[in-house]
Amino acid sequence: MTALGFAPENIGRVLCTHLHFDHVGWNTQKIGNEWLPTFPNARYLFGATEWKFRMDEEDHFDTGCREQAVLPILDAGLADLVESNHVINEEISLIPTPGHTPGHVSIHISSKGERAIITGDMFHHPCQMAKPGLLDIGDVEHDRAEQTRIKFMQDYADGPVLILGTHFATPTAGKIISDGDGYKFER
Ligand SMILES: [Zn+2]
Repeated sequence: MTALGFAPENIGRVLCTHLHFDHVGWNTQKIGNEWLPTFPNARYLFGATEWKFRMDEEDHFDTGCREQAVLPILDAGLADLVESNHVINEEISLIPTPGHTPGHVSIHISSKGERAIITGDMFHHPCQMAKPGLLDIGDVEHDRAEQTRIKFMQDYADGPVLILGTHFATPTAGKIISDGDGYKFER
């Protein structure tokens, strides 16, 4: 990031779509025996619903990520708990996409007349566009995850919005296209 001109100390905001271990790891780094914020001058935005869920829930992946990558951010006073439809500025806002976790959000980007959405773990693989009932191992609320995927595709299929699938193999970006009774992903 530094080589590209985005040194960690210059990052102003960190967004977490949800608080699973594979989405919070770079929140912190282990320096000596301490887990410290990777981005010391940033505000870290965590969904308030997601935060409550993670604090109440046992870590079913048993990764210790809450202690290593979430709580140190609160201890450092860098966390902001926000609503699932939080607007950061005119270009970036959150949209609620619950189901994978109860407080899961996706990130809507609007810039220079173009739009994109980072879908987080709402979809793990494009095959879930053809079969939205296919569950991911991390999906907490199965029915809601499926309903959210269907609603999202109804809202965005055949439109101009570029979809950035967080776990999709490269190239990750594409469009949701109607396909018979369902949908498919076209890169
Ligand atoms: Zn996840």
